[in-house]
Amino acid sequence: MKNIYSNIYSFDKIILKKTVRLLEQNSVVGLPTETVYGLAGNAYSKSAIKKIFKFKKRPSHNPLIIHYNNLKDAKQDVIFNKSFLKLYKKFCPGPLTFVLKKKAKSKISSLATANLNTVAIRFPNHKIIKNILKSIDSPLAMPSANISSGLSPISALDVFKEFKKKLKIIIDGGVSKVGIESTVIDLCTKPRILRPGVIVERDIRKVLKVNLSKKNLKLRSPGMMRKHYSPGIPVILGQTPKSSSHAYIVFGKKYKNINNYFNLSKKANLKEAAANLYKIMRKIKDKGYKKIYVSKIPKTGLGLAINDRLKRASK
Ligand code: AMP
Ligand code: MG
Repeated sequence: MKNIYSNIYSFDKIILKKTVRLLEQNSVVGLPTETVYGLAGNAYSKSAIKKIFKFKKRPSHNPLIIHYNNLKDAKQDVIFNKSFLKLYKKFCPGPLTFVLKKKAKSKISSLATANLNTVAIRFPNHKIIKNILKSIDSPLAMPSANISSGLSPISALDVFKEFKKKLKIIIDGGVSKVGIESTVIDLCTKPRILRPGVIVERDIRKVLKVNLSKKNLKLRSPGMMRKHYSPGIPVILGQTPKSSSHAYIVFGKKYKNINNYFNLSKKANLKEAAANLYKIMRKIKDKGYKKIYVSKIPKTGLGLAINDRLKRASK
């Protein structure tokens, strides 16, 4: 069914068919996942991947995450190992992305992987994207549905505001529950977290029963830019605002309800804070604030992912 934004659709059999047809024709569409909304295209098609990079204005050296519905399909493209299978069993489908070696016979477009011999793969956990993946023959390359370096979208309306009518279809699957991007773990050598997320180091360590490597963390992923997740106004960390025209992002119950204060989680719950992070940054921007100050947020567990996004937003 259509609503007033003429390219935002709720999900039904007809829209499933239309979406699958568009993807098979190598068009790109906006789709919900549990982490953030994605800009999806056929991972096997050079022309679809070209569109994704162009729409997002994403630098070509920043590879895309490839999304699958099941292990059998992923096995066509990457080489599994024991760590991967253990983590898959525990966390998938879910907000965890694995970097694995690419198979020589893989059909994934080399544009999508920025010519690397590795691939980042994920099994998303949202019934709409699972349904779509089940209905097409190829996996989907799907970065966040926003112009590169900005805030990731967590609703269909956020996607609409980025790309307007340039997308034929944006499917509305509700607000993304996780609200920040997946954890990325490199399993090509000693396991190493490249990007923190809601699945935290301790959860992973418990399953793998090894300490994760901290080596070369500076290098991280190709294309993992220092400036990222930016709301488009200055973000200043660890200081209090100097005027009421500046917004203050806070965390925990000690902060009062003041007009320019935006609490990520009054209960000091990090999961809730992560889910609120982009929502609150967009709200602040929309209200016309000129700067965002941010109070201290714990630097443990999921707090690491929140601090990572805030730090990049502040660059
Ligand atoms: P995004 O699509 O914006 O969620 O970002 C995907 C992240 O995964 C980026 O930071 C990439 O650098 C990272 N990534 C994708 N493919 C690879 C790969 N083959 N090796 C290492 N990192 C990757
Ligand atoms: Mg992104």
